[in-house]
Amino acid sequence: MNQILGGCLCQKVRYKISSPPLSQGICYCHQCQKSGGAYGSPLLVLRRDTFECSPVELPYYATKPDQGSEVRRNFCPRCGSHVFAQITDFPEIVTVKAATLDDFSAFAPEYLVWTQSAGPSCTFPPGTPSFAKSAPLERLVGKGDLKSTE
Ligand SMILES: [Zn+2]
Ligand SMILES: [Zn+2]
Repeated sequence: MNQILGGCLCQKVRYKISSPPLSQGICYCHQCQKSGGAYGSPLLVLRRDTFECSPVELPYYATKPDQGSEVRRNFCPRCGSHVFAQITDFPEIVTVKAATLDDFSAFAPEYLVWTQSAGPSCTFPPGTPSFAKSAPLERLVGKGDLKSTE
């Protein structure tokens, strides 16, 4: 895979991805819906060290679910596009909003998560494994030997 490029709406935030994602999927959770203003949020799960973003530091909004890890959604300070997220218990990974890729055509979801909150008028890509809530960690990080810091 060649280098993958992307960025926010106004181009202030630009990033490059230097190796294939650990996994790719679509999240239909309420928080992604609110932050993205859409039914579903296509995302790439990447090793942190394969993701290079400029500027390096972005503002973020943090959410802490009753169960699970804090999620920090990083956004462009100028146009507000949500570009990527970090899960504080998994510092070795980032999840990039795949719709911010310059070329979205290669996106191919391997799983759908939180479909229980997708909404009745939402249609799913056919033949894609789906989970009512979150997917098992192995599904999300693929063969990556990532461990929780918990
Ligand atoms: Zn921007
Ligand atoms: Zn989500």
